[in-house]
Amino acid sequence: MARYTDAVCRLCRREGQKLFLKGDRCYTDKCAVVRRPYAPGQHGQGRRSKVSEYGTQLREKQKAKRYYGVLERQFEGYFELASKKKGQTGENLLSILESRLDNVVYRLGFAMSRAEARQLVRHGHFTVNGKKVNIPSYLVKQGEIISLKDSSKSLEKIKAVIEANSFRQPPKWLDFDRNAMVAKVVALPEKNDIDLPIQEHLIVEYYSK
Ligand code: SF4
Repeated sequence: MARYTDAVCRLCRREGQKLFLKGDRCYTDKCAVVRRPYAPGQHGQGRRSKVSEYGTQLREKQKAKRYYGVLERQFEGYFELASKKKGQTGENLLSILESRLDNVVYRLGFAMSRAEARQLVRHGHFTVNGKKVNIPSYLVKQGEIISLKDSSKSLEKIKAVIEANSFRQPPKWLDFDRNAMVAKVVALPEKNDIDLPIQEHLIVEYYSK
């Protein structure tokens, strides 16, 4: 599976805002957006020209992709899927992105970032309805049970992250039993459940051209 391997902080600087791609570091003054609050590259510090309507839509799409760590082709696939579902395409798109297993693992506090969550899923630490699922893009469904594998519960690294994230409240669409390390998908996520500043209508406009 292809993935973005360039320095991820450049992505935040390109979007001109924190995308929280690196866990702990994002909350410190080592964050590249704090230290170098301008676009990356040779001309990054130059005067920013006015962004066109198309440019604004493009940036919103890029931002959403980067939040969730999804590459272009897969993102297009999600958009197509969203447009075939009932309801508003933009909201459907957000719901699909949010339903990815790596995002669920991140939301439950098993990882400091979605990238770390993706790695945990790939390494087979989680089950869905009792069966190992090591595909980060797996889309969870209502009623499914996501669990940390018994053999992974004693891993010090995972225990430390869970402890560090114990203050984080999982979203209401996930019913999480922190002691058992088991979560149930009580409903699929809706726009109001998602705390990311994504203007999904701009993404719909981008693909409507
Ligand atoms: Fe983005 Fe985090 Fe890097 Fe800051 S530290 S630029 S928020 S990935």
